[in-house]
Amino acid sequence: MTSLSKKIKISGVGIHSGLPVNMVIKPSKKPGIFFQRIDIKDSKLIPARFDNVGETLMRNTTIGDKNGAHVQTIEHLMAALFICGIDSAIIEIDGPETPILDGSAYEFINNLKDAVDKKTDIKKIIVKKTIIARRNELVKTMPFWKKIKTIILNHTIWRRGNGYVKISPNENGLLIDATLVYGDKIIGTQSYSCLLDGTKKSLNKFIKDISKSRTFGKYSEWEWLKAHGMGRGANENNVIALNDAGDGTLNKLHCPDEFVRHKIIDAVGDMFTSGGFIYGHLESYKGSHALNNLVLRKLFADKSNYEIVEK
Ligand SMILES: [Zn+2]
Repeated sequence: MTSLSKKIKISGVGIHSGLPVNMVIKPSKKPGIFFQRIDIKDSKLIPARFDNVGETLMRNTTIGDKNGAHVQTIEHLMAALFICGIDSAIIEIDGPETPILDGSAYEFINNLKDAVDKKTDIKKIIVKKTIIARRNELVKTMPFWKKIKTIILNHTIWRRGNGYVKISPNENGLLIDATLVYGDKIIGTQSYSCLLDGTKKSLNKFIKDISKSRTFGKYSEWEWLKAHGMGRGANENNVIALNDAGDGTLNKLHCPDEFVRHKIIDAVGDMFTSGGFIYGHLESYKGSHALNNLVLRKLFADKSNYEIVEK
């Protein structure tokens, strides 16, 4: 278990609310990452765990408790905590979503890295069997009214109907292979592979090649979201905006495959809601936060699927 050596304060705006949000990431002796909504009276600690993940249809990962307190868009911060080797912290936050900062994991890592002791030891979760989560399972499990809402709000769930996320044994660490398939010419089909094996080399490679990749969306969708009270904190510095024709972006890309590299950040952050360092091969084909969450739920549903090694 590794915590921080000092408190870290991070402020910014929420991508949906557009409102200022302040976070204090505090050292803790309790194993696990916890959020606490300090703007809500008597709010309890919310474990940042896969079994507390709720709505993922807005293309982010939200955790919440039974009393309705929730924190949205935790995935980039979770990825940064994992990369910095921090698996024990209490995050006080005064709003319902983390600050979006630069839309990637880079600024979170930059803030956190000064508060990390040299040696980190996150518990290992070794995948023993192959588990697969398919997109059509997600739709099947939805109640009827939600299915209809999903068709209207998020037609992509149908377009990408054959998407899946699969996790299988891999003794070298967390190997992620992500593939995106989009009708938009600027994205098209992109694949990226990343191995995190706990060595400094693999972490530095992630920081250099992947951590700065920003989240993305269509400019036309953005206008729609804003009109409906969402996406209000999005701007050209924190979101890659695709033009309506899908053949260009309104802001400059860091690299042509920045889209799929961002998916790696999302997958690392989502896998860290397992509470440990997953030793497994994650294959994400047209994946999503919902599929990342479903594969973890299936993995932990049966003890013979995995083994936990505490150092
Ligand atoms: Zn993301």
